[in-house]
Amino acid sequence: MKAVVVHKPRDVRIEEVPDPRVGPKDVLISVRACGICGTDIHIIDGEFPPTQYPIIIGHEFGGEVIGIGEEVIDVEIGQRVGVDPTLNCGECYFCQRGQGNLCERWNAVGVGSHPGGFAECVAVPERCVYALPDTVDYKGAALIEPVSCVVHGFHLLQPRVGDRYAIYGAGPMGLQNALLARFNGARTVAIIDINPRRLDIARELGFDVVGTSLDEVRHVATRGFDNVIEATGRTKVAELAIEAVISRGTFLQSGVCPPGEKAAFDMFRIYNQEIRIIGSMAVLNSYGPALDVIAAGAIDVDKMVTHTLPLDRFDEAVDFVRRGEGLKIQVAPSA
Ligand SMILES: [Zn+2]
Ligand SMILES: [Zn+2]
Repeated sequence: MKAVVVHKPRDVRIEEVPDPRVGPKDVLISVRACGICGTDIHIIDGEFPPTQYPIIIGHEFGGEVIGIGEEVIDVEIGQRVGVDPTLNCGECYFCQRGQGNLCERWNAVGVGSHPGGFAECVAVPERCVYALPDTVDYKGAALIEPVSCVVHGFHLLQPRVGDRYAIYGAGPMGLQNALLARFNGARTVAIIDINPRRLDIARELGFDVVGTSLDEVRHVATRGFDNVIEATGRTKVAELAIEAVISRGTFLQSGVCPPGEKAAFDMFRIYNQEIRIIGSMAVLNSYGPALDVIAAGAIDVDKMVTHTLPLDRFDEAVDFVRRGEGLKIQVAPSA
């Protein structure tokens, strides 16, 4: 079969590889849509320490079941499915406490050491596989994983109906955060980004409080925002974003900042105004709920996915992401 193999950092090849081996508890999937994530770019650039090279990347995908191992119970050939890429060990200190996203032997399909979805086929354990309802197409299926990261963030954030939100970053993750905020009964969602084309997409999604800085949106929350979500992964943006939080409000770090970078906050303000600072990492029991919110229409799939390219044009698809062109870019390996 054909697959995208990252042999080592900066060495990406679209090449013929052996078909996946299907273990007794595995499901073989013909991949119909696989999204490109910022993490994929980090893996290509050698900036994601958990990755073991060479690897077939791709962790945001859906497809059709074309084979099952002899011990598979609930999945059938011909089913349309999405895949939770999480492969936590289930045995370590954090897994025993129900915090598998913090697993000490962390692994994920297409990210750690397990082959991923930028391939014609992929074999994954049955426990990762979720049947799609008819209302969710393959484009939507490949959005479940990024949305599940947002859902995990909201599980930690514990927002209330009527909250005011400020979202920093109008890329795919920022806008998915904004859409989920709206779905959670937000009173106001303000979106801040310096890319005017992305603010246009935010407006198309129905968000009219948008701006290039806090000053341009502050009028909708003069005392500050209950929930401020950083979705750019820039440490300097996090420093600015914390200024937007209301007393007793929460700052959520959703973007992936470069490891080792330090942010400077006014710690007196954190103390004096009782500001909560939290982080959220990847997926934790949130893939099923993300599938449900997509099926419920919370995420405008056709607006989120702006480009779909064949596997052969993977390099081009990566360039779209690097240039910040469009929004979510997907690849259709066996369309
Ligand atoms: Zn991702
Ligand atoms: Zn573990």
